[in-house]
Amino acid sequence: MTYNPRTDTGIPTEPIGSLPRPIKLQEAFAAYDTGKISKAALQDEQEKAIRDSIEKYEATGSPIIADGEQWWSSFATYPFMATMAGTDLNPCCGPGGQTFALFPDGHYKAMPKLERGPFRYNEYAADSLEKSLRYASKPMKQAVIAPSMVSLLLPLHVTLSNYSREQFESDLVDECEKDIRKAFDAGAARVSIDFTEGRLSLKADPRNPWTDAGLLPHFIDLISQVVDRFTPEERANIGVHTCAGSDADSNHSAEVPYNTLLPAMFSINAGYFLIQAACEADRDATYKMIGDNIRDDAEGVKPIYYVGVIWCQNPNPETPEEVCDALVRAADFIPKERLGSTDDCGFSPFAIDQKPAYGSPDFAREIAFQKIAARVEGTKMAADKLGVS
Ligand SMILES: [Zn+2]
Repeated sequence: MTYNPRTDTGIPTEPIGSLPRPIKLQEAFAAYDTGKISKAALQDEQEKAIRDSIEKYEATGSPIIADGEQWWSSFATYPFMATMAGTDLNPCCGPGGQTFALFPDGHYKAMPKLERGPFRYNEYAADSLEKSLRYASKPMKQAVIAPSMVSLLLPLHVTLSNYSREQFESDLVDECEKDIRKAFDAGAARVSIDFTEGRLSLKADPRNPWTDAGLLPHFIDLISQVVDRFTPEERANIGVHTCAGSDADSNHSAEVPYNTLLPAMFSINAGYFLIQAACEADRDATYKMIGDNIRDDAEGVKPIYYVGVIWCQNPNPETPEEVCDALVRAADFIPKERLGSTDDCGFSPFAIDQKPAYGSPDFAREIAFQKIAARVEGTKMAADKLGVS
C-alpha cells in the first residue's frame, strides 16, 4: 500500500535517519577495528541496538521511523567502509584521501582515496534495511548517500591512469540509483538523499580545498542525474536533505548562508526536501528563503518542504508547543499545504560519537526519543491550528 505522509499528523513529519549508537556498540566498533572481536560479534551488538532503536522509535508515535543507522559506520561511508577507522575498505580504495569536513573544535573527518575502478558499493542501504524491517511494524524511511559525497573519494586534481573522473562519476550515478531502487524494493516507504556536502561546498575554506572549488552546480547535477531516472510517482517519495553537518555536537558549515544553496538545491526534481532550520541563527530568514523559492511543479511532482524543528545538538528537549509555534510561524512564509516537519539532521551521523553536549551517547539516545515524540505531537498541534488534514 502506498504510504500517505499526512496520515496521523496532517502536516507530514519525517526523521532524517541516525541516532547515537549505544556506548556498548561504540566499544564493539572499536574492538572490531583492533581485531579483538569478530564481525559476527559486532553484528550481534548492532542487532541489539537496532531492536532497541526501532522499539523506542515506534513508541514515539512517529508515523514513519528510521533504524537509527546502527548498522553503519556513517550515513556517508557505508558504501566503502564498515568502520570510521577504515576496516573492510572498498577494494577500489586505499588510505590517504582528502579531508571531508573540518569542525570548529579542530577535529576532522578524512576520506579514503579512490585508487582504481570500476567503483561499486560494498554495501547498499537495502542490505541493512532488510534486516531492520524484520523488527518494524511501522513504515520505514531509508537515507542514502548522494553521489556528490562519494565523488570526494577522488581528490581534486588527482587523475587515475585507467579510470577517468567522468567514468567514476557515471558509475556513482548508477550506484546511487541502484541504492535507491533497492531500498524501495526492500520495503522503504520513503528514501531521502543526504546532501550534507552541499552547504559545505560553499564554505570556501582554504584549509580544505574542495570546499573552495565552486563544486555546488556539479554536485546538484550529479544528484539530478540520479533523481531524473525516476518517475514522478517514484520521485514523490524521494527527498533531499541539507544541513550544516553534524558530529560531536558541532557543525562544519553553519556559517554558510542558505541564499545560494537553497535555490540551487530546489532545482532537483525531488518530491520533498528536509531542511535544517531549528538551529539556524535566523529562522524567519530560513523560512522566507524556502517560501521564496518553492516550485509548484518539479517535472510532475509538487515538492513538500520539511523544516527542521528539532535542534539535535542541543540536549534540552523541545516541547510540543515550541514545535507547534515554529511550524505555525513557518506557515507565514511557506504555504501550509507544502509544509512538513523534520529533525534538523541525524542525531548522530557518525558511529563513534561521544555526544559531548549531552555527556553520554546513552543519555543522548533517550533525549533523542523525547525530541522525536515532541516533533510528532507538536506537528499534530500545528496541523490542528492551521487547519491542515
Ligand atoms: Zn544532516
